[in-house]
Amino acid sequence: MTRDNVEIFESLVKIVGPNRVKITETEKILYSHDLAPLPKEVGLAFNTMPDAVIRPKSAEEVSQIVKVAIKYDIPVIPRGAATWGFGGAIPSQGGIVIDISSMDRVIHVDQDNLEIVVEAGAVWKKVYDIALKRGLFVVSYPSSMYAATVGGWINTGGIGIGCYKYGSVGQNIRSMEVVLPDGRIIETGFSGVSDHSAGYNLNGLFVGSEGTLGIITKVTLMAEPAPEILRPTSYQFDTLAKAFPFIRAITRSKIRPLNISYVDEIHVQFLDMMGKHTPGKGALINVALEGTIESVKVEEDVLDNLSAQFEGKKMSDSIAEHEWNERAYEFRPREVGLSAALGEIVVPLNKLPHVLRDIYELVDNMGMEASVIGMVTDRNTVALLPYFIFDDKKLIKGTTSLAFPKKLGDIGFEHGGRPLGLGLLFAGNLPKIRGEAAELMFDIKTVLDPHDIMNPGKSIEGITKQGIPIPKIAMDLGMGAMAAVKMVMPEDKAFKERAKEYKKKHAGKGQH
Ligand SMILES: Cc1cc2nc3c(=O)[nH]c(=O)nc-3n(C[C@H](O)[C@H](O)[C@H](O)COP(=O)(O)OP(=O)(O)OC[C@H]3O[C@@H](n4cnc5c(N)ncnc54)[C@H](O)[C@@H]3O)c2cc1C
Repeated sequence: MTRDNVEIFESLVKIVGPNRVKITETEKILYSHDLAPLPKEVGLAFNTMPDAVIRPKSAEEVSQIVKVAIKYDIPVIPRGAATWGFGGAIPSQGGIVIDISSMDRVIHVDQDNLEIVVEAGAVWKKVYDIALKRGLFVVSYPSSMYAATVGGWINTGGIGIGCYKYGSVGQNIRSMEVVLPDGRIIETGFSGVSDHSAGYNLNGLFVGSEGTLGIITKVTLMAEPAPEILRPTSYQFDTLAKAFPFIRAITRSKIRPLNISYVDEIHVQFLDMMGKHTPGKGALINVALEGTIESVKVEEDVLDNLSAQFEGKKMSDSIAEHEWNERAYEFRPREVGLSAALGEIVVPLNKLPHVLRDIYELVDNMGMEASVIGMVTDRNTVALLPYFIFDDKKLIKGTTSLAFPKKLGDIGFEHGGRPLGLGLLFAGNLPKIRGEAAELMFDIKTVLDPHDIMNPGKSIEGITKQGIPIPKIAMDLGMGAMAAVKMVMPEDKAFKERAKEYKKKHAGKGQH
């Protein structure tokens, strides 16, 4: 340990005490990756090992940690539950990982003002449950709700359950407490009223900033009165492509379901291969309705008529209920003991059939075991989240599979959409997505964070541990080469093989 490191460690201990700063190897390794497996080769370009991991309990402590980071010119990396698989919450050049998950209190459920005040490390499921017990409805949350933190989802600019009716997380924030890269603590909005006509919209600035502009410590979320009824419905079609006219018709009708999500026929087949409870062959379009008993009845009638018109089959209440309860378990196929990784794109709804065709072709060409799930996020935007199952212990296959999200992003671009999320791995995409506006984002980052200590190398700037910017072309060529290697390898069979064993082992155990 260098003299500097000893001094940094002592400074951090002074702020939070000895038990909440860790510099052991085990702890560092644990915090050097997120949910998605990273190929070892990533270590050539990035130093993903933190120098220290710290668990603050207040905005004041976070502010002091940031000031230590400035003094020693060392990066800080905010981290929630690390369920986002893009490397956003891991270091690119070492530094202090600030684990926010100890700041997890639901501070106040305000029925008068329809607001919920939470610490940024609170997990969505906890916030949802506590609010509902007190008569308030959290309208938008990720399907990773059992683990993902409020601050983490806000920083990915997430889209999730409830978005179709109520908008993304950013549209449901009244205010946030943020520790800036110079240690100042600010409030971005207002409690009790919205942020109209009051200077720049600071809530918007921090939403989706991937921890590069500041550390969110507290959030005031907007909420709705709890609905009289929440009714899941489920419609089956031979294939997801065949369900397109139904999905389109819902978005062109005047009804506003809470949530429209889907799983393709291959996902259902995967579950069937594992011996899971499935409603028979075909894709499922799951539409959740909420409101009064009368309004929900009217909306369900519209859905039933559209489904009949487009040759869908309405599923029983128990299947619909089961699908709703499974909304947070999309990656069950991982249970066979393999890894799953996903790519995410959004495209205009009318491109869905073409995009699906191209995704399945890519899956075929890369010989992968993959399926498409996703959701409709507004009347014209559909999010596709193809996930693939692979054996990350098989070095070449595992590594080359990771080119899939890049190729998927290209499909998104071709059809007038774009990939979602930048993080460590896809930071180079920003100029392609935003054009000249990417430069403005870079300018904003430089003004707010002149020392470049706040999660450097992410989102707007792909930079190696040696401080070299990674040109997008290098990333493209690298990923292109990995995809080409994957295409000539024998096709993946690991899932099929493991699913058989899994089914045998769990037979008669009453699986989900
Ligand atoms: C099964 C599963 C389902 C998922 N479903 C969805 C979904 O429906 N919708 C969706 O959008 N995503 C989804 N995701 C992706 C991921 O779960 C979400 O993006 C999640 O909200 C991230 O939260 P986290 O606490 O894990 O954040 P992390 O992964 O820890 O961090 C994400 C980013 O935010 C930054 N960050 C974290 N906390 C703070 C903070 N307090 N202040 C500043 N920066 C911070 C990190 O530096 C990083 O850049 C899913 C993932 C899985 C595994």
